[in-house]
Amino acid sequence: MNIDNYLKNLETIVNIDSGSECRDGIDEIIAFFQNLYTGFITEVGNKDKSNPYLIIKNRESDDIDFLFVGHLDTVFPKGTATSRPFTIKENRAYGAGVIDMKSGCLMIHEIVSKLKDSDKNICVIYNSDEEIGSECSHDIIYEMGKKSKYAFVFEPARKNGNMVKERKGILHCKVSFKGKTAHAGVNPQDGISANVEAAYWALELSKLSDLVNNNSLNIGIINGGTALNVVPDYASISFEARSFDINFFEKVKAKVEDLIKNPHLKDIKVEIVDSSQSTPLFVNENTKKLIEIYDKVKKEMSINCDWESTGGGSDANILGGLNVAVVDGAGPVGGELHSEREYLEIDSIVQRYNLSKKVIDSLL
Ligand SMILES: [Zn+2]
Repeated sequence: MNIDNYLKNLETIVNIDSGSECRDGIDEIIAFFQNLYTGFITEVGNKDKSNPYLIIKNRESDDIDFLFVGHLDTVFPKGTATSRPFTIKENRAYGAGVIDMKSGCLMIHEIVSKLKDSDKNICVIYNSDEEIGSECSHDIIYEMGKKSKYAFVFEPARKNGNMVKERKGILHCKVSFKGKTAHAGVNPQDGISANVEAAYWALELSKLSDLVNNNSLNIGIINGGTALNVVPDYASISFEARSFDINFFEKVKAKVEDLIKNPHLKDIKVEIVDSSQSTPLFVNENTKKLIEIYDKVKKEMSINCDWESTGGGSDANILGGLNVAVVDGAGPVGGELHSEREYLEIDSIVQRYNLSKKVIDSLL
């Protein structure tokens, strides 16, 4: 790869605002990549939705050998590219999305551009809503994942160089409680306190948290009540559970059902307002083999890094539970994601490019 060219391209796309809500910038970066992949089939999906995605293939095919996934969006608002443009100081590059994950998206191009004429079927997906939960792009990533043998997610490697093999799944849930108002002094007996029921749920649910086994449940938000002297008729709680184990989510859901059937306060009305779940990314048999190949190549290249399990999610979670072999954190090394201190280790670009390139070459 030509590192000067790569850094020039990186500067170009880091200096375009592409927060998940910056549609203009997202369109601009999609056009940039469409241009970059000369000779490939490119297609923009979800054009009429808030967040489009770009698909790139070397040919039309029913199955996919190598799937590459990256997101073009960042967590930064419009104006960041101007106030904090791409800069290089010593061995580090800075700027919005420089490591999360515009450098990874460009690295995918470096690798894929050399595979255009291979007999393997290649597919790249660049989405633009990863930072807000990939609602618009979930289905296409899942569909392509189902057809794929190997998937490489070019989110950054960790600060210490480690790659990612497991990510926790997340269950989000918001529950509302409808009770009955009453004067707290005159007729409290007529009231049904939504706050009390919400508190009961919070206590009962948090008992499921089991940190020893990496199963966590956090009651993130509790709302309720209007005044000190009013029995509150409305409350809500929002919680999230995280785990590497899909069975934990079943346990949480069963508890929710149980709490609905057996409320603490008679006549309270309970409603699940919002609920969503992502699958955990875990090491299946195919992933295990792919990790072994990475480890072999790492050894040959004298790269000292390990595999990490993390509680944070990425689009790799969408591929969790499928047959496809998945590695995540295949991008360059960096840190301080989602902050203005976000950085990319420039030395790691060529190293991580060579690592994934060698692994993929060995699978050709
Ligand atoms: Zn990311």
